[in-house]
Amino acid sequence: MNNFLYGKTYDEISVICNSLSLPRYTAKQICDWLYSKGVNHISEMTNLSLKTRELLSTNYEAGGQNPSLELVSNDGTRKYIFTYGSLVEAVVIFDRDRVTLCISSQKGCKLNCRFCATGQQGYKGQMTPYEILNIFRYVNKQFPVSNIVFMGMGEPLDNWQNVHQAIQILVSDWGYGISPRRITISTSGIKQRINDLLTTTDCHVAISLHNAISRERMEIMPIEKASPIEQIIKTLRSYDWSGQRRLTFEYIVFDFNHTTAHIQALVTLLKGIECRINLIRYHQTPNSNFKGANNDAILKFANNLNAKGLRTIIRASNGEDIFAACGQLAGVMK
Ligand code: SAH
Ligand code: SF4
Repeated sequence: MNNFLYGKTYDEISVICNSLSLPRYTAKQICDWLYSKGVNHISEMTNLSLKTRELLSTNYEAGGQNPSLELVSNDGTRKYIFTYGSLVEAVVIFDRDRVTLCISSQKGCKLNCRFCATGQQGYKGQMTPYEILNIFRYVNKQFPVSNIVFMGMGEPLDNWQNVHQAIQILVSDWGYGISPRRITISTSGIKQRINDLLTTTDCHVAISLHNAISRERMEIMPIEKASPIEQIIKTLRSYDWSGQRRLTFEYIVFDFNHTTAHIQALVTLLKGIECRINLIRYHQTPNSNFKGANNDAILKFANNLNAKGLRTIIRASNGEDIFAACGQLAGVMK
């Protein structure tokens, strides 16, 4: 196992070709078969000689695994469960001409945010670049994916090397050639990695904020202790956000985090940064006693923030009935 070609970079495939004494251009051909044409078997790579295909097949296979389960929500949202040792979920959301794949980065999560089903479930292991991309490969064959958001299970910055490799394959010419402006990476913020995220990709960035008062944020997001949001913002400020790349702050509106004090804290924290705020409805998770704010309160909060000059929208919730909405992904087959 694990000698899959799928999930490898052009450089890695070049090294393999070299070790098998195959010409350098073979690496390009293999990438083309894997990522542009999407074959499932080395035998289908028909512009490689039979001998080359046999040689490759003695040590490698193309890779590609189907999900164990697919669920369809009343609103059309689909959830896929892949068995990678433990269960990993992905969600596809259809919105007009957009097909958005919400992809996972880890098997569970170590960060333990109190409101999140993945956090409550704990950490089961890292996902390999192959495992991350295999989700994209499968879904993209069913429905051509237009946007990818790393908002499934796990914290992308806690598996940065593998997530970064998966992104390289998604955006490179020899890979899928997807624009990084169609990819959003969502993070609760890990101070040691935030700079890597900004400097080694061009993807959009979403920061899970949920409370701008540090002491309160710490109560719901333990990562605030090791990586205070103020330090994360300091790093974000060093970057120029005036171009095409988008910075968004995600904010679940609970029944306790939309007072005047919270608005003021947001204004102070985000002063002068080119960004948007996405207000999210709290999605109920099993065994939790959090409460979301009601619609009127969310609307009022959005209006107040906009009036203060913070560009704020309310994000639609999708797939709640199949536990496919943000924070409901716990790798449980219902
Ligand atoms: N670990 C990353 C990405 C995965 S979580 C992160 O935390 O950003 C994706 C988004 O769903 C985050 O903004 C997260 O805070 C939010 N989320 C988690 N639990 C939720 C819940 N129960 N209801 C609504 N959003 C939730
Ligand atoms: Fe992990 Fe994100 Fe859930 Fe927090 S919200 S526990 S960082 S997946």
